[in-house]
Amino acid sequence: MSGVIKQIDKTIYGPVLSWRFGKSLGIDVIFEISTCSFNCIYCQLGQIQRVTPERKVYISSEKVINDLKEFLSKNIEFDVITFSGSGEPTLATNLGEIASEIKKLCPDKPLQVLTNSTMLLLPEVQKDLELIDRVICKLDAANDKTLKQINRPAENINIENIVAGIKSFKQSFKGILDIQMMFMPLNLAQIEDLANLLNEIQPASVQLNTPLRPYPMQWHRENRGNHLPEDLTETRQLKVISKEEAEFIEKTLKDKTGLNISSVYRE
Ligand code: SF4
Repeated sequence: MSGVIKQIDKTIYGPVLSWRFGKSLGIDVIFEISTCSFNCIYCQLGQIQRVTPERKVYISSEKVINDLKEFLSKNIEFDVITFSGSGEPTLATNLGEIASEIKKLCPDKPLQVLTNSTMLLLPEVQKDLELIDRVICKLDAANDKTLKQINRPAENINIENIVAGIKSFKQSFKGILDIQMMFMPLNLAQIEDLANLLNEIQPASVQLNTPLRPYPMQWHRENRGNHLPEDLTETRQLKVISKEEAEFIEKTLKDKTGLNISSVYRE
């Protein structure tokens, strides 16, 4: 059976059709209101309601697992399970517990996490991610000025700690570590510096993106998945890079790092 779960009272959503991952079943461990240690100017959730680095249980493991069991009973096809949803998954202190339960329920499905990389220096977060097959770490800026312009982080979050966190996590992590980068006119001038950071990190691959979706002016839970026109309320178009600029970035990063690079413009 194929289909998409759009119920907004569920912590499970999708499967979302992703250019990177195929049919991706979303797991939302934040859920109640949008909560993140960033407030990115391009966030598909819109303005983040609670910008915080606070780690705690945001929604019970029991609800997430019950929602997943209900979804699985419908026999809907999907390729991969992704922790993403209404904010930053590594803020949830029950992430590791939920991952462990999902592995028991879906042993054959790859489990992945989309993270903004701000919590990776914490040993407890590294432990929570032990069972994950692929962690995709956001890196949009090479200095604090651009970090503040694009990602608008909570207090005391800086590039030095973010990069140190990714590198420290990679040392112990047994799964695949990718980097995803959102390119906008604001960080175009940082390609060289970002290439240097990639050379330090040595991810398995790099995914290049640009904000193709408009920025919603208010949060609604449907924003977790792919936007459908009927889901959109008021939106604002974002400045994106051109196809030529995307090709230039891809070629430059490839030449300077030798890494495997994929781009939303090409896929
Ligand atoms: S890190 Fe992700 S969830 Fe958080 S504000 Fe940025 S895009 Fe939104």
